[in-house]
Amino acid sequence: MRGNQIKLPQLGWLEYIKSREIPDGFVVKQARIVRKASGYFVMLTLECDVLVPSPVPSGHPLGLDLGLDKFVATSDGVLIERPRFLQVLHRKLKLLQRRLKHKHKGSSNRHKLNRKIARLHQRIADTRKDWQFKLAHKLCDDAGMMFVEDVDFRTWAKGMLGKHTLDAGFGQFIEILKWACSKRGVYFEKVNKDYTSQVCPQCDTHTGKKELKDRVHSCPECGYTTHRDVAAAQVIRNRGETALQEGFPPQATANPKGISGLLSQPGRKCLWRRSSGDGKPSS
Ligand SMILES: [Zn+2]
Repeated sequence: MRGNQIKLPQLGWLEYIKSREIPDGFVVKQARIVRKASGYFVMLTLECDVLVPSPVPSGHPLGLDLGLDKFVATSDGVLIERPRFLQVLHRKLKLLQRRLKHKHKGSSNRHKLNRKIARLHQRIADTRKDWQFKLAHKLCDDAGMMFVEDVDFRTWAKGMLGKHTLDAGFGQFIEILKWACSKRGVYFEKVNKDYTSQVCPQCDTHTGKKELKDRVHSCPECGYTTHRDVAAAQVIRNRGETALQEGFPPQATANPKGISGLLSQPGRKCLWRRSSGDGKPSS
């Protein structure tokens, strides 16, 4: 790299517009060319020799449940809807795509419309990302520790919920959330996802499978009643807290039949524990 030029394999020296300076102490690790509707981009991966301490688990615990109905429910009872402006943009996109049918193949009108659709796709992606960043920071405002379900959204996306799940961009949001937490000193951890919607957060009783239409968690044992997604978020928070209290070393693995536990890192094996009878208080 020199000035505003970058040398790429096979392409040689190319001029580019720097969107920001490379900070001191960083070296370029990798360059990727990305083609977007608005042009070609060079994405640089930087590396620096500093160890960033991971946040210590402390402070207010927050469990998050991601879903198709509400985008996020928190264990504090906050429900976050999918933003309306994204729905509006999606409708606009559908309209344009329908119009495409009436354009002749190879015509310049069709070409123009295709460009327009590509730009709108890009705008939707950018807008969604922006919204997710803001949401992640907002969630960090109220939390010292953040717990989410360990769901592989790529496999989820292949299931029957396919299209919606991809649209919702859960996987991207989790990545953004993780990043925001590390920036803000909030401890972040994934917990076992099994039965989060079937357990009572107050008394740990298995309340059975809820249908999609069942919007309320109402425990036959202890009478605890709340929004079903909030209940799931509270179960997730409890699991995170319990696993922390029991001080599992991050690498241990054990009995995969328990119903709660803490995962060290995505992709690694899970830690599990049998849930104990005494319910944890929930707010
Ligand atoms: Zn209960």
